[in-house]
Amino acid sequence: MKHLHWMIALLVCAGSNNAAAAVDAALVEDLVAANHILVNQGVLDGFGHVSMRDPRNPQHLLLSRSMAPALTTAADILEYDLDCNAIDDRGRSGFLERFIHCEIYRARPDVQAVVHSHSPAVIPFGTGRTALQALSHVAGFLTAGVPVFDIRKQYGMTNMLVNDVDRARSLVRTLGDKPVALMRGHGDVVVGPSLQIAVYRAIYTEVNARMQAQALAMGGPVTYLSREEGQMADVTQQGAVSRPWELWKQQAR
Ligand code: MN
Repeated sequence: MKHLHWMIALLVCAGSNNAAAAVDAALVEDLVAANHILVNQGVLDGFGHVSMRDPRNPQHLLLSRSMAPALTTAADILEYDLDCNAIDDRGRSGFLERFIHCEIYRARPDVQAVVHSHSPAVIPFGTGRTALQALSHVAGFLTAGVPVFDIRKQYGMTNMLVNDVDRARSLVRTLGDKPVALMRGHGDVVVGPSLQIAVYRAIYTEVNARMQAQALAMGGPVTYLSREEGQMADVTQQGAVSRPWELWKQQAR
């Protein structure tokens, strides 16, 4: 009888360990999927990265080692603290621009996921000619305003990378409380209250930029969404994010 109790205790313990591991594995799989989805949707290419705040510890984040995002697997996901030190990198190197992620999580408790990309259609809107503005309801979040970070203003001539804490903090100041900031001559950063919403926003920032370039090329004035329309549309779209997420995830497999 004593032996039986011991066996049951062992089984219960093993079961709960497996359950905990399974939850973590599902979250890591979502982050791996986010890497693949953003490549499939033309936001990431050989460059760029997506991270999520560690649900077990809000002072940590999960981010791939330095590699092309299309090739990311669960084994490539590293855990970092907010100083961007890897907890256990086992010799694997991190992205040069990982400080973007660490400093955003430090400054923005509302943010659960961050995308940094060289989203191609977005870059023309960071040059100073025309502001990126929402012209489709799926990009209503852009009506919050899209600030542009120009690294030259503070740092003069650089390699254009946000590859240290100081540059990352400067970028975070430009981002403010917004969902998106453009980086002149480089790309953008997109944040969200969940991984799914950050991925959604990164994709539709790119799509909206393409549509806006088309609308401007047609000539004449363009009617953009108002802030009120954008806010209402954003609430509705956030509530429906699981629909495109499941599709994108399936397509990325
Ligand atoms: Mn970059």
